[in-house]
Amino acid sequence: MGLRSGYASGVDPQPLIIDLQSDAYFMGLALREARKAYAATEVPVGAVVVHDGRVIARAWNQVETLQDATAHAEMLALTAAQQVLGNWRLEKCTLYVTKEPCPMCAGAIVHCRPERVVYGCPDPKSGAAGSWINLLDSNPPLNHRCEVSAGVLGEECLALLQGFFREARLTRSKSRAEVDVSQGGDVDPF
Ligand SMILES: [Zn+2]
Repeated sequence: MGLRSGYASGVDPQPLIIDLQSDAYFMGLALREARKAYAATEVPVGAVVVHDGRVIARAWNQVETLQDATAHAEMLALTAAQQVLGNWRLEKCTLYVTKEPCPMCAGAIVHCRPERVVYGCPDPKSGAAGSWINLLDSNPPLNHRCEVSAGVLGEECLALLQGFFREARLTRSKSRAEVDVSQGGDVDPF
């Protein structure tokens, strides 16, 4: 009995250390990417790709920076991960993204075939992982099915987007500058 005092016994349900393999940990890294996007006046979405428990790619939305409508965080992270692995098949990979993927990204995801997709907040208007349509599940023509987990650090991911759009609306009402939202789309869904 004396050995158990003060330290985890191996069955402790609440370990005191941060679980470096947890979905929340990796989503935290994706959020860090999203904040880089925010700082660059981009819609704040971030993504990381984890392979065998290790981060191999990270990216933030760069549609405005690159003037490329396809430069969503997921697209950039998927491309980077494929380069790291030297393989377009992202086997044993999990994509973490702060917002539910749009149809373009969901289409790319199934082509790259990661095992899992974990996202933060849903995109009620154009989410393609179940909110509007679901391209990640049961799609015989696309021939791949991803396991999907939703809502990881969802409130933080959503708060970042809402803060961004709140600011963008203020700016827009002053200058009428066109603000591209949702990493693609014309109406603020948040
Ligand atoms: Zn997208």
